[in-house]
Amino acid sequence: MKVVLMGPPGSGKGTQAKFIANKFNLTHVSTGDIFRDNIKKETLLGKEIKGIIDKGNFCPDELTIELVKNRLKEEDCRKGFVLDGFPRNLIQAKALTEFNEVDVVIRISVENEIIKKRLTGRRSCVSCGGTFHVDNLENVNVCPTCGGELYIREDDNEDTVKHRLTVYENQTAPLIDYYEKLNLLATVDGDDEIENVTLKIIKVLESL
Ligand code: ADP
Ligand code: ADP
Ligand code: ZN
Repeated sequence: MKVVLMGPPGSGKGTQAKFIANKFNLTHVSTGDIFRDNIKKETLLGKEIKGIIDKGNFCPDELTIELVKNRLKEEDCRKGFVLDGFPRNLIQAKALTEFNEVDVVIRISVENEIIKKRLTGRRSCVSCGGTFHVDNLENVNVCPTCGGELYIREDDNEDTVKHRLTVYENQTAPLIDYYEKLNLLATVDGDDEIENVTLKIIKVLESL
């Protein structure tokens, strides 16, 4: 199964992708995670994109498309994948249509006011990449999954979140129409308990 998860920043793509990948034995491919990993390791790519990501802008299309295209060719993606964070604009979506088939595009919809609360309280794990919310953490510094250190992403501050939401509206929202026309779109209401959102996504995937 080849699944794309789309939705505004903070809609729960990463959270849900992990559950879905586990349940359906798919490889989770997150462009954000790949980029942040490169920043952490201070690779050439990491140095090029750090400033862009911290400001909440998009990395260059050519670079991002090439990266995903190569990643999906790797052995572990043959069994199927969940793409989280790609495509993010029409150029990327059209490129994806050319180099890979997908079975479904699941859009997680969440209102902006809820997103702002989620992202300003998000804590991310340096070790496993898991994301959590301060409201659900006993210790806001320690990952409940792996014991790793939790940190606040540079782009999860109020101003940058606002900017990212505008970028989403302008650049990514047009994909809703694009995938609707291709008959690939399924929309799931993401303003619900994490487990309930997972159940709704599972229902969509089991109906394919
Ligand atoms: P995305 O990958 O779309 O940016 P995340 O999965 O990282 O989103 O989730 C963003 C934040 O919202 C995290 O703090 C996460 O714990 C929290 N979150 C995710 N899904 C839900 C939900 N259904 N209800 C409440 N909080 C959620
Ligand atoms: P979120 O969904 O919470 O905004 P991601 O982890 O998916 O976070 O992405 C973080 C950042 O990485 C984005 O704001 C952007 O700068 C960059 N990025 C991720 N995916 C893409 C993409 N497909 N195209 C361009 N930039 C991307
Ligand atoms: Zn962890």
